[in-house]
Amino acid sequence: MALVPCNVCGTLNSEDTEICLSCEYPIRGRRRPAIFQWAALLLLIPFALTGLSLAFNWLRPKPPHQSPAERTALR
Ligand SMILES: [Zn+2]
Repeated sequence: MALVPCNVCGTLNSEDTEICLSCEYPIRGRRRPAIFQWAALLLLIPFALTGLSLAFNWLRPKPPHQSPAERTALR
């Protein structure tokens, strides 16, 4: 069983492992195609936008709201 150094972090990994045990970089140069990364990004964008709009609505100051009963009670 031979040990091969990782191209990224230099950790010695066995030849049988597919990814570096330290940085998880694929040792044999088999990288995930970029299209998967783009697909993940496209899937994340709607979630990020929803979260941003929710946070914006939550942070926006609410207008003071008085019910008619409260208004008459103050007089
Ligand atoms: Zn590594």
